[in-house]
Amino acid sequence: MNPFIAEKIYLFLTYLRGEKISPTLNLLIQNEKVDSSEMEQIKVNKAKRLLIYACQNVPFYRNNYDFNPDEIKSLTIKEFNEYWKSIPLLSKSDVLNNIHYFLSDKLKDMKTHYDKTSGSTGTPLFLKVNTSCWTVRHARDLQVKEWFGIRNGEKYALFWGQHWSNKSKREIALKDFLLNRIRISAFNQEEKYLEESFKRIKKFKPTFIMGYPSAITDLCSFIKAKNCDLSFLKLKAVITTAEPLRNYQRKIISEICNCGVFSQYGGAEQGFVACECEKGGFHIFSDTTWLEDENGEMKPNTLTEAIATDLELYSMPLIRYRTGDEVIFKEGKCSCGRTYPLLERVEGRSGEDIILPNGKKINANLPSYIFKEIASMGVIRRYRFVDKKDGMLYLYIIPTQKFNQEVLNLVEKETQNAFGKDIQLKIEITNVLENMPNAKHKDYVVINE
Ligand SMILES: [Zn+2]
Repeated sequence: MNPFIAEKIYLFLTYLRGEKISPTLNLLIQNEKVDSSEMEQIKVNKAKRLLIYACQNVPFYRNNYDFNPDEIKSLTIKEFNEYWKSIPLLSKSDVLNNIHYFLSDKLKDMKTHYDKTSGSTGTPLFLKVNTSCWTVRHARDLQVKEWFGIRNGEKYALFWGQHWSNKSKREIALKDFLLNRIRISAFNQEEKYLEESFKRIKKFKPTFIMGYPSAITDLCSFIKAKNCDLSFLKLKAVITTAEPLRNYQRKIISEICNCGVFSQYGGAEQGFVACECEKGGFHIFSDTTWLEDENGEMKPNTLTEAIATDLELYSMPLIRYRTGDEVIFKEGKCSCGRTYPLLERVEGRSGEDIILPNGKKINANLPSYIFKEIASMGVIRRYRFVDKKDGMLYLYIIPTQKFNQEVLNLVEKETQNAFGKDIQLKIEITNVLENMPNAKHKDYVVINE
């Protein structure tokens, strides 16, 4: 599709959803060049507003903390930073166990959009996101694409999940068409599929590629083995997301695609947190997300858990949320001139492969992808696949009260669709999952006996 038409369709669709993309984008671009102290001021003002809103309208904060709005308003930046550090950190289980207490009283008057977290920690979470927050996330996406010379509406190849049901397939196909993109399954690593994907890309001629770095790497390795590359496409960029970008992945992707490879970091709970720029600086969007370590600082050169607050998330405020992702902060400024603070890198969740009991190799994100859809039904609290090396694959589920036989059948069907029909699956319902801190993947554990 002509990019100009695609851009108009995109803007029309976002308009229908009530998203004011253009003014939001302008504001984000304006914030790119403010000096560091002004950036800090923007962050603190937004955090004050969110905190006051939460203590007045959100049961969890109203019931648990003794906030005084007037006092919060009057604090200087320095004082507020100290105050902020005194707010206890929030874990995913805090939210899951009290989910209704996190919803704003004003939710019914708010336009919201559903979002689902990736459940790679074994705990899927279903979020309601207010439209203005959703708009910022979309506008941010357009903003960073402009860094790489990509205009809204340009053709791209998306390496992402595929849906298995025919209804979802049709809906996704329509969405992909309207958004001027082709979708390549991030989870199908069969040679035949890679060959087909290579042909589709050559025919479609995208100007950029986006998606899981592990899947893009798979295809690039396949293309390299054929002594080919994608340089004829003159790609503007490859943007990776959902998993940390490893050095070896960046190397092979940039070699085969003959362009820069840029990593993004974000999530359903924390929003669009950070992105690498054309000069390689990993910028934290502190005008919309407060990112810190456990001590409320951004201590450089230290691997630390990222604590994040999406400052635009009003429908369900998650203040000082433990992301479970590990990051390293960085001091200094980027040569691009943008003043956002910096990350050295995101360690995050692992995208390494999983070997199923039958020897089939799958992407590490595939288990969570199955449950990402099921999470939206609010029927499962936690899950874990366990390979006990006896040829079977065990799936342990901690159900919610809404769980029933129908859900059980659906889980079985979705798992077989994802992992293959020949997998020997045994599903067990349980009340507790043993803590396995050293497991490589928290939702897929191999017990070496
Ligand atoms: Zn930069």
